[in-house]
Amino acid sequence: MAAVVELDAGTHSLRAAVVTPSRPWIPVAAPVLAGNEEAYVLDCLRTTWISSHGEYIGRFEETFGRFCGARHALACSNGTVALHLALLALGVGPGDEVLIPTMTFVATANAVRYCGARPVPVDIDPHTWNLDTGQLEASITRRTVGIIVVHLYGHPVDMDAVLAVARRRRLFVVEDAAEAHGAQYRGRPVGALADVGTFSFYGNKIVTTGEGGMVVTNDGGLAEKVRRLKGQGMDPERRYWFPTIGYNYRMTNVAAAIGLAQMEKVDWHLRRRREVATWYQQDLAGLPGIGWQVEQPWARHAYWMFTILVDDTIADRDELMARLRDAGIETRPVFYPVHILPPHRKATVGRALPVAERIARCGLSLPTWAGLSRDDVRYVAEALRGALRV
Ligand SMILES: *Cc1c(COP(=O)(O)O)cnc(C)c1O
Repeated sequence: MAAVVELDAGTHSLRAAVVTPSRPWIPVAAPVLAGNEEAYVLDCLRTTWISSHGEYIGRFEETFGRFCGARHALACSNGTVALHLALLALGVGPGDEVLIPTMTFVATANAVRYCGARPVPVDIDPHTWNLDTGQLEASITRRTVGIIVVHLYGHPVDMDAVLAVARRRRLFVVEDAAEAHGAQYRGRPVGALADVGTFSFYGNKIVTTGEGGMVVTNDGGLAEKVRRLKGQGMDPERRYWFPTIGYNYRMTNVAAAIGLAQMEKVDWHLRRRREVATWYQQDLAGLPGIGWQVEQPWARHAYWMFTILVDDTIADRDELMARLRDAGIETRPVFYPVHILPPHRKATVGRALPVAERIARCGLSLPTWAGLSRDDVRYVAEALRGALRV
């Protein structure tokens, strides 16, 4: 039995079940499609504009570009190919090295490999869990061409520090903002703070289109390259003339229709996530052995995931997750660092990246999405206290 969540903004009930006295189940993430999603998708079906042309694509791109303060926004099929397109447009190729934070979703590293280049994992800062900017210089070699930063779980990276190194060493900077729609660095939205920014609209992300991605940039030349590459590389002046190898990385009008409806309510989504995170912080304050990613004074966290660290002297993270599952609460472990994953571990021969390794061992994300109520969060916090027996 699923309880219906009252949405101040919405007309539709959530598809996910939430706490009921009989059988609680709180998913770690769920989309909230409480605006014009249904109407816009029906419009695509009724007008037969279901493929990668149609008015929703342009409207979604324009809306999203404005949201990030970027002059150009190019929709594509997912966040992984958004990264691939960004790196191709920047000219990354065989023999190149690209610095990445080791604590990220594997797509960041894979996109570098798709270009034939080598991702070089760097350790993270223990407070923000983002790239430790103090370790960048030491990781740069003759082959280094750029840096991908990741605004992990929605917390922005200290961009000034990254951009200073990049300028000094003549490196490009890509923001992988897949988890950080609406996050701000010193009052400016992430995505357009460096050369190129990329976003994902996977079903569990802050804004979703089911599957989808976006490349944003202020550089018209890069935007033109991305536009060509995602459409098989066709010469825009000469139909079916392909001067280079391209890809089919386009987004459908149906996906863009969902995205546009999501963007109409993006402020509500962000407000709700912040509220949920604030409740967790209130309910978990003072709990010994529990910490979390600390929002820095210059940062506005978008709270894709509210993620805690469980000190391993207090409890075993995996055991704790199992106990929470028994209480009907889905959680998820922090990513394995890239440098220990089989396809990528050769890149960091013999170097330990201890901060990421510790956070990967002790971190877990609690349910974080826009449909959670005050009672849901209280229930999770109480279950956590119970499982820790404090
Ligand atoms: C989700 C995610 C991606 C990939 O996005 P998809 O749309 O799933 O391809 C890339 N980088 C990070 C950091 C992500 O969290």
